[in-house]
Amino acid sequence: MTTTSYDGRALINGKRVAAADGQTFECISPVDGRVLTQVARCSQVDVDAAVAAGRVAFEDRRWCAMAPAARKRVMIKFADQLLAHADELALMETLDMGKPIKYARSVDVNSAANCLRWYGEAIDKIYDEIAPTASTALALIQREPMGVVGVIVPWNYPMIMAAWKIAPALAAGNSVVLKPSEKSPLTALRLAELALEAGIPPGVFNVVPGYGPEAGSPLALHMDVDCIAFTGSTRVGKQIHVMAGQSNLKRAWTELGGKSPNIVFADCPDLDKAVAASVGSIFFNQGESCNAPSRLYVEASIRDQFLEKALALVPGYAPANPLDPATVMGAIVDQTQMNSVLRYIDLGQKEGAALLAGGAQALSETGGCYVQPTIFAGVTGDMTIAREEIFGPVLSVLSFTDAAEVVRLANQSVYGLQAAVWTRDLNKAHGVARALRAGTVHVNQYDEDDITVPFGGYKQSGVGRDKSLHAFDKYTETKTTWIRIDSPL
Ligand code: NAD
Repeated sequence: MTTTSYDGRALINGKRVAAADGQTFECISPVDGRVLTQVARCSQVDVDAAVAAGRVAFEDRRWCAMAPAARKRVMIKFADQLLAHADELALMETLDMGKPIKYARSVDVNSAANCLRWYGEAIDKIYDEIAPTASTALALIQREPMGVVGVIVPWNYPMIMAAWKIAPALAAGNSVVLKPSEKSPLTALRLAELALEAGIPPGVFNVVPGYGPEAGSPLALHMDVDCIAFTGSTRVGKQIHVMAGQSNLKRAWTELGGKSPNIVFADCPDLDKAVAASVGSIFFNQGESCNAPSRLYVEASIRDQFLEKALALVPGYAPANPLDPATVMGAIVDQTQMNSVLRYIDLGQKEGAALLAGGAQALSETGGCYVQPTIFAGVTGDMTIAREEIFGPVLSVLSFTDAAEVVRLANQSVYGLQAAVWTRDLNKAHGVARALRAGTVHVNQYDEDDITVPFGGYKQSGVGRDKSLHAFDKYTETKTTWIRIDSPL
């Protein structure tokens, strides 16, 4: 496979185009440092063109006026296209951002396709409402598409993060302008080509690759974008809300960072399972998951036993070439992110945490970006590694002695994305789950996931929810139509 065949041009109004000023940036693989291709470095003028194309498509109703059953068929075909190109997309994702090919194929492609199919199938099954008013009138409550939806996504699950937003936005009849991360632009561009092939009309789904301040900000500030849906860091998420307010008060939805607490009580039903899930979930996707359980609270009485079992699992997560189907821990997305993770590891040691495993770069001879799976014990709540999102394979282990104390500690975070509690005591499980300030709480597992359930955070983990039918609320306006009934009867 010659990777230089990848087309890095933008996709605007159904056509692959270079950035208007001809600028490009290098797309570098973290697997081995090679340049994969040149990508269009879009800026204001390209965003303007994409938004204009989306607006024209929305105004002439080429997509939103299609019969729901017809739009459904196109969305399902779009999902099928992903599966038909699964190997190609998985390879592209792995080369672009470093995740193991087996997960790119089994998780990323499948989840993105499932998401497109699920929202497609929903199109002709959602009914509007009639309000229970007096009989002198009829009040219709109807959902309408908003218009042009801007979507900005990160690099950790490029296809899934895009699908969570474009699927409900397109299903609701909107036009979309997607800005993928500059660190992982390739699959988004390919997705838009597959959408065209599936029958999504030109102009309805546009992709403008580029840097945040150059291509993302013009989208968030655009006066003709009706809604901006963002996934990324809390730092940039706050700016997105400001930009929405500074411009046209577009609807702004943000899925942001996390520092999820994972609480293991001494009476957890199966210690081996709790250890395997805790270790597996923090190291999955190289720790580059917003919902990674990065703060592990273990009840003091089982702490040593837990750590011994956890350390025994670490060698199984040694980083390796992500193109090898046996690999479970791949490359960190780029040099900048790898250096940031290594800085946090350094800080953890300086602030007095005990480094029990890992702690260094790996496979540097490959020219790629790899970090050893790392575990710190003796972490306290005031340490930086217990407070800040590291977004790498680094687990901070803290301990506690009772439920009230651990709930207080777990909630001591600016984030509130996810949490977990492990106990066989039903009252304790429900009580702690209720007290935790998080969008999702897992009980005695950490891997349940389904497109039918909302995903999003409390506090500074963002505003709004992806997934499930709730996501339609983000991409539709609610219209009330009052009809007078002067009945002769
Ligand atoms: P980031 O905030 O740096 O970038 C996200 C996107 O925003 C990228 O496309 C980037 O180009 C763009 N961007 C950057 N600056 C911008 C600006 N000034 N204006 C407009 N757009 C701008 O985040 P990242 O490093 O790509 O991703 C990691 C973050 O994403 C982590 O904090 C992680 O927790 C979060 N995340 C959250 C979820 C969730 O569902 N809550 C899911 C995945 C990732």
